[in-house]
Amino acid sequence: MEAVDASQPYDRDNIFAKILRGEIPCDKVYEDEFALAFNDIAPQAPVHVLVIPKGEYVSWDDFSAKASDAEVGGFVRAVGIIARELGLVEPGYRLLCNLGADGGQIVPHVHVHLCGGKSLGRMISG
Ligand code: 5GP
Repeated sequence: MEAVDASQPYDRDNIFAKILRGEIPCDKVYEDEFALAFNDIAPQAPVHVLVIPKGEYVSWDDFSAKASDAEVGGFVRAVGIIARELGLVEPGYRLLCNLGADGGQIVPHVHVHLCGGKSLGRMISG
């Protein structure tokens, strides 16, 4: 799959936009005013949850520059809540956000990967 150009305009037909609108099902883990979280369709760890803000932002760059303080704060709080609810704080977990070609972002709606459930090793391989 082709990596996202992080500077492109938001595409309302991207797969996560469709999940947010309920047009495509997801295995929902958490939802509040600011965020939706669901299990990754191709998990890379025993726990692999995708957390997405509800606003229309292509990438972390877009989100961090343009989202309101309430949206950014609400999203960050939601990630913390989800990790606590999944019991990941004590064993530990990893947050990952891919951006653009070098980051390997495929879906053009900003998302954080919340991974855990086993020792994930040191940082990045490959
Ligand atoms: P990215 O490389 O953009 O950071 O990661 C996109 C992630 O979305 C991948 O881990 C991929 O498995 C996941 N994904 C892609 N399409 C779907 C889908 O339709 N449903 C779910 N739950 N995950 C998806």
